Amino acid sequence: MKYNTVLLFGAPGAGKGTQGKVLGTVPGYFHIACGDVFRNLTVESELGRVFLEYSGRGELVPDEYTIRLWREAVEGRKQGAQFQPKRDMLVLDGLPRSLTQAQMLADALNVLAIFNLICPDRSKLIARLQRRALRENRLDDVNYEVILQRLDVYERETKPVLDFYGAQLVHTIDATQPPIVVLHQLLEVLTKL
Ligand code: ADP
Repeated sequence: MKYNTVLLFGAPGAGKGTQGKVLGTVPGYFHIACGDVFRNLTVESELGRVFLEYSGRGELVPDEYTIRLWREAVEGRKQGAQFQPKRDMLVLDGLPRSLTQAQMLADALNVLAIFNLICPDRSKLIARLQRRALRENRLDDVNYEVILQRLDVYERETKPVLDFYGAQLVHTIDATQPPIVVLHQLLEVLTKL
C-alpha cells in the first residue's frame, strides 16, 4: 500500500519545518522531517556518525542510508500507531532530496501535492538559518560556508526532484510571507485534496 503524501519542498530556511510541525498537529495528518530523524540518532551509531560527517559539510547523506533510515522510522511510527496510513496524510519534509531518492520512494509514496516554498532572496534564507543556529542548536547552521554549500546542494541536487513529479502537482508558495499566510495557502490546497 502506498502512503497518501504531500511534500514540503524548498531550500534550507524556507520554512518547511515550521509549516510541517503545525500540519502535524491536525488530526489526519502525520508529519515527518527527514532531518529530525537523522538528529535523533546517537553519535555512537554508524548512521549517526555518517550523518554528522555529511551534514557537517552541508552535503546530503548518501541515498541508500537515507532511504533505509526513513523506512525504519516510518515502520516504527506505524507500529507505535502514531502513523496510520489508512487514516493519515503523510506530510514529508526534506525528503526526497535527490532524483535517486524520488525513484527509490516511488513504491512507497502516492504524492498528491508538492508545496514549493520559494524564497528568491538568498540573504533572507541565510539570515533565517543563522538565527536558528543557536535557538535550535543546529550545528550545520553555525558555519557560513556550510550554509552556502547547503543552498548550492539544494539548487543542484534537490530542485530536479520537482521535474520528476511534474508541474501539475506543484503548488508554488512565496515563503517570504508571514508563516500564517503560508499556512493559509497550504490549507486552501489541502482542504480540496
Ligand atoms: P534544512 O532543510 O534546513 O537543510 P534538514 O534538517 O532538513 O535542514 O537537513 C539537515 C541535514 O540533514 C542536511 O543538510 C543533510 O545533510 C541531512 N539530510 C536531511 N534530509 C536528507 C535527505 N533526504 N537526504 C540526504 N540528506 C538529508
